[in-house]
Amino acid sequence: MAPRKCTICGKPIPKERLQALPQTKRCVDCAREKGSDIVVRRAEIGMDADTYKDLLGATRS
Ligand SMILES: [Zn+2]
Repeated sequence: MAPRKCTICGKPIPKERLQALPQTKRCVDCAREKGSDIVVRRAEIGMDADTYKDLLGATRS
């Protein structure tokens, strides 16, 4: 499976992040800086903010 690349900076998205957020198209740095592309949908399903922040910064396996 080819690594998915960030749509903003073009760097490969770490697979740990893709495991946590399979739909993301942005790397951790860009998601922090520009906002995640999936923030709205996550907010709509009522995920609590701390859990969500943890997912955004997901770099752990
Ligand atoms: Zn990026």
